[in-house]
Amino acid sequence: MSSIELKPGRERPVHNRHPWIFSGAIARGPSADADEVEIYSHDGEWLARGLWSPQSQIRARIMTWKYDEPIDGLYFRRRIANALSMRLKHPAYNDANAMRIVHGESDLIPGLIIDRYGDYVSVQLLTRGIDERRADIVQAIVDLMQPKGIFDRSDPEMRNLEGLSSSHGVLWGEAPPETMIISHPTGLRETLDLDNGQKTGGYLDQALNRIAVAAYANGADVLDCFCYTGGFSVAAALGGARSITAVDGSAMALDALQNDIKLNGAGSTPLEIVEADVFKLLRKYRDEERRFDMIILDPPKFAHSQAQVDRATHGYKDINLLAMKLLRPGGLLATYSCSGLVSPDLFQKVIFGASVDAQRDVQVIERHTQAPDHPVLLSFPEGEYLKGLVCRVW
Ligand code: SAH
Repeated sequence: MSSIELKPGRERPVHNRHPWIFSGAIARGPSADADEVEIYSHDGEWLARGLWSPQSQIRARIMTWKYDEPIDGLYFRRRIANALSMRLKHPAYNDANAMRIVHGESDLIPGLIIDRYGDYVSVQLLTRGIDERRADIVQAIVDLMQPKGIFDRSDPEMRNLEGLSSSHGVLWGEAPPETMIISHPTGLRETLDLDNGQKTGGYLDQALNRIAVAAYANGADVLDCFCYTGGFSVAAALGGARSITAVDGSAMALDALQNDIKLNGAGSTPLEIVEADVFKLLRKYRDEERRFDMIILDPPKFAHSQAQVDRATHGYKDINLLAMKLLRPGGLLATYSCSGLVSPDLFQKVIFGASVDAQRDVQVIERHTQAPDHPVLLSFPEGEYLKGLVCRVW
Protein backbone atom coordinates (compact mmCIF):
# COMPACT_ATOMS: atom_id res chain seq x y z
CA MET A 1 0.00 0.00 0.00
CA SER A 2 1.30 3.48 -0.89
CA SER A 3 1.70 6.08 1.82
CA ILE A 4 2.17 9.78 2.42
CA GLU A 5 4.25 11.21 5.23
CA LEU A 6 3.24 14.75 6.17
CA LYS A 7 5.65 17.49 7.14
CA PRO A 8 5.92 18.21 10.89
CA GLY A 9 2.83 20.02 12.22
CA ARG A 10 0.79 19.44 9.04
CA GLU A 11 -1.39 16.75 10.65
CA ARG A 12 -3.56 19.39 12.38
CA PRO A 13 -6.10 19.95 9.55
CA VAL A 14 -6.33 16.18 9.10
CA HIS A 15 -7.18 15.80 12.81
CA ASN A 16 -9.82 18.50 12.22
CA ARG A 17 -11.21 16.40 9.37
CA HIS A 18 -10.39 18.68 6.49
CA PRO A 19 -10.30 16.32 3.48
CA TRP A 20 -7.59 17.95 1.35
CA ILE A 21 -3.83 17.28 1.48
CA PHE A 22 -1.96 19.97 -0.44
CA SER A 23 1.35 19.23 -2.15
CA GLY A 24 3.15 21.63 0.22
CA ALA A 25 2.16 19.58 3.28
CA ILE A 26 3.81 16.39 2.05
CA ALA A 27 7.29 15.37 3.20
CA ARG A 28 7.33 12.07 1.33
CA GLY A 29 4.75 10.85 -1.19
CA PRO A 30 4.22 7.76 -3.29
CA SER A 31 5.01 7.34 -6.98
CA ALA A 32 2.78 9.03 -9.57
CA ASP A 33 0.91 5.85 -10.38
CA ALA A 34 -0.27 5.33 -6.80
CA ASP A 35 -4.03 5.19 -6.19
CA GLU A 36 -5.08 4.57 -2.60
CA VAL A 37 -2.77 6.17 -0.02
CA GLU A 38 -2.36 5.77 3.73
CA ILE A 39 -1.67 9.14 5.33
CA TYR A 40 0.78 9.36 8.24
CA SER A 41 1.94 12.24 10.43
CA HIS A 42 5.65 13.07 10.55
CA ASP A 43 5.80 11.04 13.79
CA GLY A 44 4.45 7.95 12.05
CA GLU A 45 0.87 8.10 13.37
CA TRP A 46 -1.74 6.69 10.93
CA LEU A 47 -4.21 9.51 10.26
CA ALA A 48 -6.47 8.68 7.34
CA ARG A 49 -6.86 6.97 3.96
CA GLY A 50 -7.24 8.85 0.72
CA LEU A 51 -7.01 8.85 -3.06
CA TRP A 52 -3.89 10.15 -4.75
CA SER A 53 -4.03 12.90 -7.41
CA PRO A 54 -0.46 13.19 -8.70
CA GLN A 55 -1.15 16.15 -11.01
CA SER A 56 -3.31 18.33 -8.78
CA GLN A 57 -2.17 20.83 -6.15
CA ILE A 58 -4.65 18.99 -3.92
CA ARG A 59 -2.45 15.93 -3.96
CA ALA A 60 -4.76 13.65 -2.01
CA ARG A 61 -8.37 13.66 -0.84
CA ILE A 62 -9.24 11.87 2.35
CA MET A 63 -12.00 9.32 1.92
CA THR A 64 -12.02 7.88 5.46
CA TRP A 65 -10.62 8.47 8.93
CA LYS A 66 -11.41 4.88 9.95
CA TYR A 67 -8.52 2.46 9.74
CA ASP A 68 -10.78 -0.50 9.07
CA GLU A 69 -12.84 1.13 6.29
CA PRO A 70 -11.70 0.11 2.79
CA ILE A 71 -12.62 2.30 -0.20
CA ASP A 72 -14.60 -0.37 -2.03
CA GLY A 73 -18.04 -0.91 -3.53
CA LEU A 74 -19.66 -1.07 -0.10
CA TYR A 75 -18.04 2.22 0.83
CA PHE A 76 -19.84 4.03 -2.00
CA ARG A 77 -23.08 2.22 -1.32
CA ARG A 78 -23.03 3.23 2.34
CA ARG A 79 -22.20 6.87 1.74
CA ILE A 80 -24.56 7.38 -1.17
CA ALA A 81 -27.34 5.70 0.86
CA ASN A 82 -26.70 8.13 3.74
CA ALA A 83 -26.75 11.13 1.47
CA LEU A 84 -29.93 9.93 -0.21
CA SER A 85 -31.75 9.41 3.07
CA MET A 86 -30.79 12.92 4.24
CA ARG A 87 -32.49 14.38 1.16
CA LEU A 88 -35.54 12.17 1.41
CA LYS A 89 -36.02 13.17 5.05
CA HIS A 90 -35.99 16.86 4.19
CA PRO A 91 -39.60 18.09 4.06
CA ALA A 92 -38.98 20.49 1.17
CA TYR A 93 -37.79 17.66 -1.05
CA ASN A 94 -40.75 15.30 -0.55
CA ASP A 95 -42.48 16.23 -3.79
CA ALA A 96 -39.40 17.23 -5.78
CA ASN A 97 -37.94 14.98 -8.41
CA ALA A 98 -34.81 17.04 -8.96
CA MET A 99 -32.15 17.48 -6.32
CA ARG A 100 -28.47 17.08 -5.61
CA ILE A 101 -27.94 13.74 -3.92
CA VAL A 102 -24.18 13.90 -3.31
CA HIS A 103 -22.36 17.21 -2.90
CA GLY A 104 -18.77 15.94 -3.00
CA GLU A 105 -16.63 16.67 0.05
CA SER A 106 -19.69 18.01 1.92
CA ASP A 107 -21.32 14.57 1.72
CA LEU A 108 -18.06 12.85 2.67
CA ILE A 109 -17.34 11.60 -0.87
CA PRO A 110 -14.65 13.97 -2.18
CA GLY A 111 -14.64 14.37 -5.94
CA LEU A 112 -18.14 13.00 -6.59
CA ILE A 113 -21.30 14.90 -7.51
CA ILE A 114 -24.59 13.09 -8.05
CA ASP A 115 -27.73 14.95 -9.16
CA ARG A 116 -31.13 13.43 -9.67
CA TYR A 117 -33.31 14.75 -12.49
CA GLY A 118 -36.53 12.74 -12.56
CA ASP A 119 -35.76 9.20 -13.71
CA TYR A 120 -32.22 10.12 -14.70
CA VAL A 121 -29.06 10.70 -12.75
CA SER A 122 -26.32 13.11 -13.76
CA VAL A 123 -22.88 12.62 -12.21
CA GLN A 124 -19.53 14.38 -12.09
CA LEU A 125 -16.38 12.30 -11.56
CA LEU A 126 -13.87 14.96 -10.62
CA THR A 127 -10.74 13.22 -9.36
CA ARG A 128 -8.57 10.49 -10.74
CA GLY A 129 -9.38 8.10 -7.89
CA ILE A 130 -13.12 8.66 -8.28
CA ASP A 131 -12.87 8.28 -12.06
CA GLU A 132 -11.19 4.91 -11.60
CA ARG A 133 -14.00 3.78 -9.31
CA ARG A 134 -16.80 4.63 -11.73
CA ALA A 135 -17.97 1.00 -11.92
CA ASP A 136 -18.53 0.83 -8.12
CA ILE A 137 -20.25 4.21 -8.16
CA VAL A 138 -22.56 3.32 -11.05
CA GLN A 139 -23.48 0.04 -9.37
CA ALA A 140 -24.33 1.80 -6.09
CA ILE A 141 -26.50 4.37 -7.91
CA VAL A 142 -28.33 1.68 -9.87
CA ASP A 143 -29.05 -0.34 -6.73
CA LEU A 144 -30.06 2.58 -4.53
CA MET A 145 -31.87 4.87 -6.97
CA GLN A 146 -33.07 2.60 -9.80
CA PRO A 147 -32.68 5.26 -12.51
CA LYS A 148 -33.50 4.77 -16.19
CA GLY A 149 -30.06 6.08 -17.06
CA ILE A 150 -26.90 7.60 -15.63
CA PHE A 151 -25.28 10.43 -17.53
CA ASP A 152 -21.76 11.79 -17.07
CA ARG A 153 -21.50 15.61 -17.05
CA SER A 154 -18.09 15.94 -15.39
CA ASP A 155 -16.83 19.53 -15.33
CA PRO A 156 -13.95 19.50 -17.87
CA GLU A 157 -12.15 22.35 -16.10
CA MET A 158 -11.92 20.42 -12.85
CA ARG A 159 -10.92 17.18 -14.58
CA ASN A 160 -8.22 19.10 -16.37
CA LEU A 161 -6.63 20.06 -13.03
CA GLU A 162 -6.44 16.34 -12.30
CA GLY A 163 -4.84 15.58 -15.65
CA LEU A 164 -7.99 13.79 -16.83
CA SER A 165 -9.54 14.15 -20.27
CA SER A 166 -13.11 15.39 -20.45
CA SER A 167 -15.86 12.89 -19.94
CA HIS A 168 -19.41 13.32 -21.21
CA GLY A 169 -22.12 10.83 -22.14
CA VAL A 170 -24.17 7.86 -21.05
CA LEU A 171 -22.50 5.83 -18.28
CA TRP A 172 -25.30 3.35 -17.80
CA GLY A 173 -28.79 2.61 -19.14
CA GLU A 174 -30.79 4.88 -21.43
CA ALA A 175 -29.77 8.28 -22.72
CA PRO A 176 -31.96 11.01 -21.21
CA PRO A 177 -34.59 12.53 -23.53
CA GLU A 178 -33.55 15.70 -25.36
CA THR A 179 -35.70 17.79 -23.07
CA MET A 180 -37.14 16.77 -19.77
CA ILE A 181 -39.39 18.54 -17.32
CA ILE A 182 -38.38 18.40 -13.68
CA SER A 183 -40.11 19.58 -10.47
CA HIS A 184 -38.22 21.64 -7.92
CA PRO A 185 -38.99 21.46 -4.18
CA THR A 186 -40.89 24.74 -4.62
CA GLY A 187 -43.33 23.12 -7.03
CA LEU A 188 -41.91 25.08 -9.96
CA ARG A 189 -41.22 23.09 -13.07
CA GLU A 190 -38.26 23.52 -15.40
CA THR A 191 -37.40 22.25 -18.87
CA LEU A 192 -33.86 20.89 -18.94
CA ASP A 193 -31.48 19.24 -21.35
CA LEU A 194 -29.08 16.98 -19.42
CA ASP A 195 -26.85 16.49 -22.44
CA ASN A 196 -26.33 20.10 -23.50
CA GLY A 197 -27.51 22.14 -20.51
CA GLN A 198 -25.12 23.93 -18.16
CA LYS A 199 -23.58 22.32 -15.06
CA THR A 200 -25.19 18.88 -14.73
CA GLY A 201 -28.30 20.22 -16.49
CA GLY A 202 -29.61 23.00 -14.27
CA TYR A 203 -29.02 25.16 -11.22
CA LEU A 204 -30.54 23.22 -8.35
CA ASP A 205 -28.73 25.37 -5.81
CA GLN A 206 -31.01 28.38 -6.49
CA ALA A 207 -34.30 26.49 -6.20
CA LEU A 208 -35.48 28.00 -2.89
CA ASN A 209 -33.99 31.46 -3.44
CA ARG A 210 -36.18 31.96 -6.52
CA ILE A 211 -39.33 31.72 -4.41
CA ALA A 212 -37.86 33.90 -1.65
CA VAL A 213 -37.15 36.65 -4.19
CA ALA A 214 -40.54 36.25 -5.86
CA ALA A 215 -42.18 37.26 -2.58
CA TYR A 216 -41.18 40.86 -3.41
CA ALA A 217 -42.27 40.76 -7.05
CA ASN A 218 -45.90 41.82 -6.84
CA GLY A 219 -46.51 44.73 -9.22
CA ALA A 220 -42.82 45.03 -10.08
CA ASP A 221 -41.07 45.57 -13.39
CA VAL A 222 -38.44 42.84 -13.07
CA LEU A 223 -35.07 42.53 -14.80
CA ASP A 224 -33.66 38.98 -14.49
CA CYS A 225 -29.99 39.06 -15.50
CA PHE A 226 -28.11 35.81 -16.24
CA CYS A 227 -31.53 34.14 -16.24
CA TYR A 228 -30.56 30.77 -17.82
CA THR A 229 -33.89 28.92 -18.23
CA GLY A 230 -35.59 31.64 -16.20
CA GLY A 231 -35.98 30.10 -12.76
CA PHE A 232 -36.21 33.56 -11.15
CA SER A 233 -38.38 34.94 -13.98
CA VAL A 234 -40.97 32.19 -13.65
CA ALA A 235 -41.13 32.59 -9.87
CA ALA A 236 -41.40 36.40 -10.16
CA ALA A 237 -44.16 36.12 -12.78
CA LEU A 238 -46.12 33.82 -10.46
CA GLY A 239 -45.40 36.28 -7.66
CA GLY A 240 -47.40 38.94 -9.53
CA ALA A 241 -44.70 40.85 -11.43
CA ARG A 242 -46.06 43.54 -13.79
CA SER A 243 -43.46 42.73 -16.44
CA ILE A 244 -40.38 40.56 -16.83
CA THR A 245 -37.27 41.28 -18.86
CA ALA A 246 -35.06 38.17 -18.93
CA VAL A 247 -31.48 38.31 -20.20
CA ASP A 248 -28.94 35.62 -20.97
CA GLY A 249 -26.20 34.93 -23.49
CA SER A 250 -27.45 31.42 -24.24
CA ALA A 251 -30.17 31.14 -26.90
CA MET A 252 -30.84 27.55 -25.90
CA ALA A 253 -31.57 28.53 -22.30
CA LEU A 254 -33.90 31.30 -23.47
CA ASP A 255 -35.91 28.83 -25.58
CA ALA A 256 -36.49 26.76 -22.44
CA LEU A 257 -37.58 29.92 -20.62
CA GLN A 258 -40.36 30.56 -23.19
CA ASN A 259 -41.62 27.09 -22.49
CA ASP A 260 -41.29 27.24 -18.69
CA ILE A 261 -43.29 30.43 -18.32
CA LYS A 262 -46.26 28.75 -19.99
CA LEU A 263 -45.63 25.39 -18.32
CA ASN A 264 -45.91 27.06 -14.92
CA GLY A 265 -49.06 28.96 -15.81
CA ALA A 266 -47.45 32.40 -15.98
CA GLY A 267 -47.93 33.00 -19.71
CA SER A 268 -50.04 36.14 -19.22
CA THR A 269 -47.23 38.22 -17.68
CA PRO A 270 -45.65 40.56 -20.28
CA LEU A 271 -42.29 39.00 -21.04
CA GLU A 272 -39.34 40.43 -22.94
CA ILE A 273 -36.58 37.93 -23.69
CA VAL A 274 -33.21 39.42 -24.56
CA GLU A 275 -30.23 37.45 -25.83
CA ALA A 276 -27.34 39.72 -24.88
CA ASP A 277 -24.21 40.24 -22.86
CA VAL A 278 -25.42 41.51 -19.48
CA PHE A 279 -22.40 43.81 -19.06
CA LYS A 280 -23.26 45.60 -22.30
CA LEU A 281 -27.02 45.54 -21.88
CA LEU A 282 -26.91 47.15 -18.43
CA ARG A 283 -24.89 50.03 -19.94
CA LYS A 284 -27.38 50.37 -22.77
CA TYR A 285 -30.30 50.48 -20.31
CA ARG A 286 -28.40 53.04 -18.22
CA ASP A 287 -27.95 55.26 -21.29
CA GLU A 288 -31.63 54.81 -22.22
CA GLU A 289 -32.61 55.63 -18.60
CA ARG A 290 -34.69 52.48 -18.30
CA ARG A 291 -35.92 51.78 -14.78
CA PHE A 292 -36.98 48.64 -12.91
CA ASP A 293 -38.44 47.79 -9.50
CA MET A 294 -36.53 44.54 -9.10
CA ILE A 295 -33.24 43.33 -10.55
CA ILE A 296 -31.78 39.84 -10.16
CA LEU A 297 -28.06 39.33 -10.80
CA ASP A 298 -27.03 35.67 -10.81
CA PRO A 299 -23.83 35.60 -12.86
CA PRO A 300 -21.66 32.55 -13.57
CA LYS A 301 -18.57 31.88 -11.46
CA PHE A 302 -16.16 34.78 -12.01
CA ALA A 303 -13.23 33.46 -9.88
CA HIS A 304 -11.87 30.04 -10.80
CA SER A 305 -8.59 30.49 -8.91
CA GLN A 306 -7.15 32.73 -6.20
CA ALA A 307 -5.38 34.74 -8.90
CA GLN A 308 -8.75 35.66 -10.44
CA VAL A 309 -10.39 36.94 -7.24
CA ASP A 310 -9.37 40.55 -7.80
CA ARG A 311 -10.73 40.61 -11.34
CA ALA A 312 -13.88 38.86 -10.18
CA THR A 313 -14.57 41.54 -7.57
CA HIS A 314 -14.30 44.19 -10.30
CA GLY A 315 -16.85 42.24 -12.36
CA TYR A 316 -19.26 41.99 -9.41
CA LYS A 317 -18.85 45.65 -8.61
CA ASP A 318 -19.46 46.66 -12.22
CA ILE A 319 -22.79 44.86 -12.67
CA ASN A 320 -24.05 45.73 -9.19
CA LEU A 321 -23.23 49.41 -9.62
CA LEU A 322 -25.06 49.49 -12.96
CA ALA A 323 -28.04 47.58 -11.54
CA MET A 324 -28.37 49.98 -8.59
CA LYS A 325 -28.54 52.88 -11.02
CA LEU A 326 -31.39 51.22 -12.92
CA LEU A 327 -33.54 50.68 -9.83
CA ARG A 328 -36.34 53.04 -8.86
CA PRO A 329 -36.02 54.29 -5.25
CA GLY A 330 -36.98 51.49 -2.86
CA GLY A 331 -36.37 48.92 -5.60
CA LEU A 332 -35.09 45.46 -4.86
CA LEU A 333 -31.72 44.01 -5.84
CA ALA A 334 -31.20 40.25 -5.46
CA THR A 335 -27.51 39.76 -6.11
CA TYR A 336 -25.56 36.49 -6.05
CA SER A 337 -22.04 35.16 -6.30
CA CYS A 338 -21.30 31.47 -6.81
CA SER A 339 -17.52 31.96 -6.69
CA GLY A 340 -16.44 29.95 -3.66
CA LEU A 341 -13.21 31.94 -3.51
CA VAL A 342 -15.15 35.18 -2.92
CA SER A 343 -16.19 35.00 0.74
CA PRO A 344 -19.56 36.34 1.94
CA ASP A 345 -17.68 39.10 3.72
CA LEU A 346 -15.76 40.13 0.61
CA PHE A 347 -18.94 39.96 -1.49
CA GLN A 348 -20.74 42.28 0.92
CA LYS A 349 -17.80 44.71 0.78
CA VAL A 350 -18.01 44.73 -3.02
CA ILE A 351 -21.74 45.49 -2.94
CA PHE A 352 -21.00 48.24 -0.41
CA GLY A 353 -18.40 49.69 -2.78
CA ALA A 354 -20.96 49.64 -5.59
CA SER A 355 -23.52 51.45 -3.40
CA VAL A 356 -21.01 54.20 -2.57
CA ASP A 357 -20.21 54.77 -6.26
CA ALA A 358 -23.89 54.60 -7.24
CA GLN A 359 -24.68 57.08 -4.45
CA ARG A 360 -27.52 54.94 -3.19
CA ASP A 361 -28.40 53.80 0.36
CA VAL A 362 -28.66 50.03 0.37
CA GLN A 363 -30.24 47.87 3.08
CA VAL A 364 -29.71 44.12 3.25
CA ILE A 365 -33.05 42.49 4.01
CA GLU A 366 -32.21 38.83 3.39
CA ARG A 367 -29.07 36.73 3.09
CA HIS A 368 -29.23 33.71 0.83
CA THR A 369 -27.15 30.60 0.45
CA GLN A 370 -27.30 27.36 -1.54
CA ALA A 371 -30.36 25.09 -1.16
CA PRO A 372 -30.30 22.40 1.58
CA ASP A 373 -29.50 19.64 -0.92
CA HIS A 374 -26.06 21.35 -1.13
CA PRO A 375 -25.09 21.05 2.55
CA VAL A 376 -22.00 22.62 4.07
CA LEU A 377 -19.80 20.37 6.18
CA LEU A 378 -18.33 22.42 9.03
CA SER A 379 -14.92 20.82 8.59
CA PHE A 380 -15.00 21.87 4.91
CA PRO A 381 -16.09 25.52 4.72
CA GLU A 382 -15.01 25.58 1.05
CA GLY A 383 -18.27 23.72 0.32
CA GLU A 384 -20.22 26.95 0.93
CA TYR A 385 -19.95 28.73 -2.40
CA LEU A 386 -23.25 30.45 -3.14
CA LYS A 387 -24.09 33.68 -1.37
CA GLY A 388 -26.78 36.21 -2.09
CA LEU A 389 -27.89 39.54 -0.70
CA VAL A 390 -31.44 40.73 -1.14
CA CYS A 391 -31.26 44.49 -0.83
CA ARG A 392 -33.54 47.50 -0.81
CA VAL A 393 -31.94 50.26 -2.84
CA TRP A 394 -32.90 53.89 -2.00
N1 SAH B 1 -30.27 32.41 -12.69
C1 SAH B 1 -30.16 31.10 -13.27
C2 SAH B 1 -28.75 30.56 -13.26
C3 SAH B 1 -27.73 31.47 -13.88
S1 SAH B 1 -26.24 30.70 -14.31
C4 SAH B 1 -31.12 30.14 -12.59
O1 SAH B 1 -31.75 30.50 -11.59
O2 SAH B 1 -31.24 29.02 -13.08
C5 SAH B 1 -25.40 31.92 -15.20
C6 SAH B 1 -25.97 32.23 -16.57
O3 SAH B 1 -25.25 33.34 -17.09
C7 SAH B 1 -25.84 31.17 -17.62
O4 SAH B 1 -27.13 30.89 -18.13
C8 SAH B 1 -24.97 31.76 -18.74
O5 SAH B 1 -25.44 31.44 -20.04
C9 SAH B 1 -25.15 33.23 -18.51
N2 SAH B 1 -24.06 34.12 -18.88
C10 SAH B 1 -22.75 34.01 -18.61
N3 SAH B 1 -22.08 35.14 -18.98
C11 SAH B 1 -23.01 35.98 -19.49
C12 SAH B 1 -22.97 37.29 -20.01
N4 SAH B 1 -21.82 37.99 -20.06
N5 SAH B 1 -24.11 37.85 -20.45
C13 SAH B 1 -25.28 37.17 -20.39
N6 SAH B 1 -25.39 35.93 -19.89
C14 SAH B 1 -24.28 35.34 -19.44
